[in-house]
Amino acid sequence: MLFIEKIMSKLSFSDHSRIFKDFTYIYPVLSRRSQGISLGINLNVNNACNWRCIYCQVDGLKRGKPDNIKLDILEFELDSMLDAAINTSFLHEYAPFGLDRLNDICLSGNGESTVSKQFLDVVLIIDKLRKKYNLDNYVKSILITNGSEFERDDIQQAVALLSQNNGEVWFKVDSGSVAGISQINQVALSLSGIAKKLGISCKLCKTYIQTCMFQSHGVEPTQEFIEQYINFIKPFKGEVNGVLLYSVARNPMLPEGEHISSVSLDFLARVASKVTELGIDIKYYE
Ligand code: SF4
Repeated sequence: MLFIEKIMSKLSFSDHSRIFKDFTYIYPVLSRRSQGISLGINLNVNNACNWRCIYCQVDGLKRGKPDNIKLDILEFELDSMLDAAINTSFLHEYAPFGLDRLNDICLSGNGESTVSKQFLDVVLIIDKLRKKYNLDNYVKSILITNGSEFERDDIQQAVALLSQNNGEVWFKVDSGSVAGISQINQVALSLSGIAKKLGISCKLCKTYIQTCMFQSHGVEPTQEFIEQYINFIKPFKGEVNGVLLYSVARNPMLPEGEHISSVSLDFLARVASKVTELGIDIKYYE
């Protein structure tokens, strides 16, 4: 049995650190949304992302791509964590009572994971270890992504393989206009390009649109902003499995995000009701 040193402190919802002991790539998080433990995989240990969302909470974010990944170390760490979660009392010691369950393995790093040329290799490791520990359908494999690389063949292979591993893609769409995307995600993209990549994701794997809305200088998103968003997601009725809508929970790390703050739960509920009217499922979180 692989060995994980015990520590006394439990995880909490406010602990979002991606550094766990001496591990490089794997970190456990207590997830409010899933009401359980998520084993995160951070491929962007250099804090490099191809986008620069103004609400990003990565400390020291820079534009770029992840460094070369030491796949043997990543496999050892994930194997160790899964062994601890399944064969030891690790979950009970780390998580509060009632939340001491393994919910998912989640590709969510300090940058966009799919930019890595080794992304498919990483998903192959997940596939191998899920089989080793018989995770079947009780543990999800989640990819949180901005979708930028979904036209690459190797990424499509990886997403299809995730789908066979109880996979879900959480695909970032923060605005339904080119101007909104430019302002929020700080990238120049066409709506047709985003729609194409989202469509690819829906065909390959269970896909949720993930959207962050927030106040700017104390002002909520306008009616026009919401209508543009609703118009963008409308054609995906029957293709996406739902929308995950949330607001900024902590202070953004980037200077250009200093003026943003959380919207109210009422605001999220109003947007949610418009999404529901489209016939698309939605969950929202403050
Ligand atoms: S895609 Fe994610 S990691 Fe990259 S800038 Fe946006 S929020 Fe940060």
